This record gives sequence, structure tokens and C-alpha cells, in this order.
Amino acid sequence: MTAPPPPLPVVDGLELPEPQRALLNPGGLLAGRDGETHRLPRYFYRIDSWEQALATPVSPNFGLWEFVDVDVREPAALRMFPRYVPTAVSLLAAALETFRGEVGMPVRIAANGGYRSPSHALSTGGSPHCWATAADIYRLGSEYLDTPARIERYGTIARRVLPFARVRPTGAAIGLADDHLHVDIGYVTAVPRGASERDDESPG
Ligand SMILES: [Zn+2]
Repeated sequence: MTAPPPPLPVVDGLELPEPQRALLNPGGLLAGRDGETHRLPRYFYRIDSWEQALATPVSPNFGLWEFVDVDVREPAALRMFPRYVPTAVSLLAAALETFRGEVGMPVRIAANGGYRSPSHALSTGGSPHCWATAADIYRLGSEYLDTPARIERYGTIARRVLPFARVRPTGAAIGLADDHLHVDIGYVTAVPRGASERDDESPG
């Protein structure tokens, strides 16, 4: 039996070098298409390699890599290691565990469907994906969520076991999911041990 990997280091996004700081905009405000404005996460876990992402569990059934798999729509500087993921990813994983327990099948998150930085090309409209608090689920076990009926069936379960989560309705209109189930727990920011929140360090 091998020892579990050590917890990932927590970093203050305000202390990151450029261009990562500018691209992540830690503690900055992000306006959404719904007219709401939200403050972006300030604290991140640092991931030093893809191997580390593969080897690091966030919860019993979710690995860190599943939340940080992005393509070229994420700026190159944020695809190079070390990479950074908001610490609230652990809360998202805990919520997804509840859902997984109910459906009794592996829950698969789409590429670009976990954490996306606010600089990601798909991060329009103030998406909670920029908080690492949203997941686009495209497959459950061997079943692809590619029809409105399947998405709605599992969306109903998600709403029942996660009553405070947002489960996006299905539909073909812009912003509505038609090949995955979007579940998010809102604009949650997490401040883990090791992260200081002094006023004179707070973002402007
Ligand atoms: Zn989504």
C-alpha cells in the first residue's frame, strides 16, 4: 500500500507572476451576461505536472486531472505547468460525489468542462466554470448524455440530491446544454488553511 500524495500547495493568486496573474485575474470582478457581478477566486492549488494531476485525488472518485483538462482555447501560459486551479474545486468534487453515489456510475467531465480560467475562450458570460465550481458531465458509465431526454433524466436526479445546485435546462439556444449536463454550486470561493486574508492584502 502506498501513501497518498501530499496535499497540493495553496498559492495566493495575487502573488503569481505575470502573465498568469493577469490571465487569472485573482480577486477581480467578473460581470456576467445575467447582469450579476462576482468576485473571482484568489486562492489556487498549484499543480506542477500532468503526472501530479493524474495522481492527485480531489475526492474518492474524482481525480484532479478531470477538472483541469482544457484545450487550446485556454491561453498557452495557463496550459504550461505549474498550473493553478481554484481551491473550491474540492467542494465541487464533494457535490459530484453525492451525485455519483445516487446514479451509481462513474461521472465523466468533458474536456473544457471543469475549470476554465476567465481568459478561456469559452469563459463568456461570467461562467461559474471560472470558479472551479461547475462541471459539464457528458457521460455516466457507458451512457452519453447526448439527448434532451437523457440530460433531463439525470438533471432531475441532480436537482433532487443537490437542491442548492444549479442544473442548466436542456435546449438548443445559446447558453443551454445539448450534449452535456451542466451542474454548478454557484460562485463559491474557498479559503483553505494556509491562506491569509489580511485587509491590506485584499484585492482592490
Ligand atoms: Zn457548464
